[in-house]
Amino acid sequence: MTITKSLAAAMIGAAVTFPAMAAQNPFNYNVDKFADIEVLRYQVPDFDKLSLNQKLLVYYLTEAAQYGRDILWDQNCEINLELRPVLEKIYVNYSGDRNSADFRNFEKYLKQVWFGNGIHHHYSTDKFTPAFSKEFFAGQFKANKCGDDVLLERLSEAMFNPQKYAKRVNQADGEDLIKTSANNLYDRNVTQAEVEAYYAALKDTTDLTPISYGLNTRVAKVDGKVVEQPYKIGGLYSAAIEKIVENLNKAKEYAENDAQRATIESLVDFYTTGDLKTFDEYSIMWAEDTASKVDFINGFIESYGDPLGMTGSWESIVNFKNDKASHRTEIISDNAQWFEDHSPVDNRFKKEKVKGVSAKVITAAILAGDSYPATPIGINLPNANWIRAAHGSKSVTIENITEAYDAAAHGNGFNEEFVIDKPTCELLDKYLFITDNLHTDLHECLGHGSGKLLPGVDPDALKEHGSTLEEARADLFALYYLADPKLVELGLLDNADAYKAEYYKYMLNGLMTQLMRIEPGKDIEEAHMRNRQLIAKWALEHGKKDNVVEFVKRDGKTYLKINDYKKLRDLFGELLTEIQRVRSEGDYEAGRNLVLEYAVKVDPEIHREVLERYEKLSIAPYKGFVNPVYTPVKDASGNITDITVSYTEEYPEQMLRYSRDYSPLTTK
Ligand code: ZN
Repeated sequence: MTITKSLAAAMIGAAVTFPAMAAQNPFNYNVDKFADIEVLRYQVPDFDKLSLNQKLLVYYLTEAAQYGRDILWDQNCEINLELRPVLEKIYVNYSGDRNSADFRNFEKYLKQVWFGNGIHHHYSTDKFTPAFSKEFFAGQFKANKCGDDVLLERLSEAMFNPQKYAKRVNQADGEDLIKTSANNLYDRNVTQAEVEAYYAALKDTTDLTPISYGLNTRVAKVDGKVVEQPYKIGGLYSAAIEKIVENLNKAKEYAENDAQRATIESLVDFYTTGDLKTFDEYSIMWAEDTASKVDFINGFIESYGDPLGMTGSWESIVNFKNDKASHRTEIISDNAQWFEDHSPVDNRFKKEKVKGVSAKVITAAILAGDSYPATPIGINLPNANWIRAAHGSKSVTIENITEAYDAAAHGNGFNEEFVIDKPTCELLDKYLFITDNLHTDLHECLGHGSGKLLPGVDPDALKEHGSTLEEARADLFALYYLADPKLVELGLLDNADAYKAEYYKYMLNGLMTQLMRIEPGKDIEEAHMRNRQLIAKWALEHGKKDNVVEFVKRDGKTYLKINDYKKLRDLFGELLTEIQRVRSEGDYEAGRNLVLEYAVKVDPEIHREVLERYEKLSIAPYKGFVNPVYTPVKDASGNITDITVSYTEEYPEQMLRYSRDYSPLTTK
């Protein structure tokens, strides 16, 4: 599963962080900006410290990653691979004024389509609306000899008719989610009822180790019968999968150990046969390989693109372990029992024996498919529940991506606008990056795993408020321990006051700045956002008598002021104690009251002010990345002696190069 919680946190965190490293580093993180999107660049630190074998392994895995791009484009919508070459041809050959409104609107649209891997927004899944005219497109289509009138009509319909392909993934209750979704995971003439009946007949509900039904297939109706069309060599997307396999086989030659070699072989097997049992075997081998430095995700993984949550979107991330940063998560995991024993919660609710979750910090070398250009910052795989239970899972934080988010936010004016004074800004500059990362580590490695239910308590007793309260419990565990001298003693922080950076950001975000994502008049719906306001507002209210936290007005603007950080920590401990009790006892009433009183309703005055102040900053709400370029260095006899990495490619150049060099499914 993609850790969307971390993604959300990073978006907020990024906006308020000024890491010290950015000041000395001339690396240009900001690449492009259009519509609601900002394109950034990330670095791959320590790539040069890998051995030549490891570099070659990474290189061929990145080649395999790039060859899958067209698969995702076609999965997203049937028109995408027909439209892209036409748009790119016009873009490259346009002979008119490239500063004209028509061309600039055309360019913006193409950049959006590139970013969405098709004609729909990557996040909202709504279809993009071109700001240039149908006539402009038709004129350019003809002038550049892009095809016949039938194609022109089909592309125009796809782009300009708002009803056609309106939404990629429709989740609206009560509608036929297959018929009304524009993705290409299902044939256009198959209905939701037919798909559900098909799988219901197929599934063996007594199977304790079920395959992930439909993960690698398109469902179609052929001669009136519902059938699955597998993505495999000789099946759908064969030309792309052949190139992926060719490069996986090359990568295999440089595997770090036998286990990794066998894992790659198993993946090749899966792509060759399309057999989902093989995919499970591969997933188990992959999950159990924790010794290799280089690692990768490659395949049909997450099913958010399917309204029924079955078919996986193609993606790949190639990465290697950041040993230094992983040391941090290892220390936390090793001390899991100490943290459990010393938490402020009632002893009856503590675990006698805690199992720390193994997690590592990684450096991404390439992002591809569904993880490109927009990418998660945390991933936890495999997705099959029975594999997770029996063989464990790998939880990773992609730290060179969080670094890029943070560095790119440098100078965007967010701190100057919302942080109360210069000393607090300096505190955030210095310590927010590390304390924010530690907060995520403590939340993921320990927070969720801490505590226990009393015997007989239903794990689902908190019902619709369960996830908000669960996130609050994990966040409070992390917040409470961030201020503990134990972190300095363990060498995780070098200053006993560092935690104040995260405390300030957390309270500011929970009480004010996260409201930028809420439309005027709306309540807070999303569980992580509810959790943050619950904690921040509860602490504000309960600290009132001691004036722990307050709002102050300056020049007509509201600022958050924290007067007593130590007492704020005590309040976090107090709320953690209560929420752990609520969970351990399954006290639905008390949990519900907490959520309804503190987490849902928005202060309309503050909300309006935040939206106004945020609007002036013009910070793009969505971000993504261009990849670095890897180039083999060869000696006189053609042997590869090194792989170099460069960071100079611009966004359109990268997209055009991928379309030219890695596009086996597009006929040119
Ligand atoms: Zn969580």
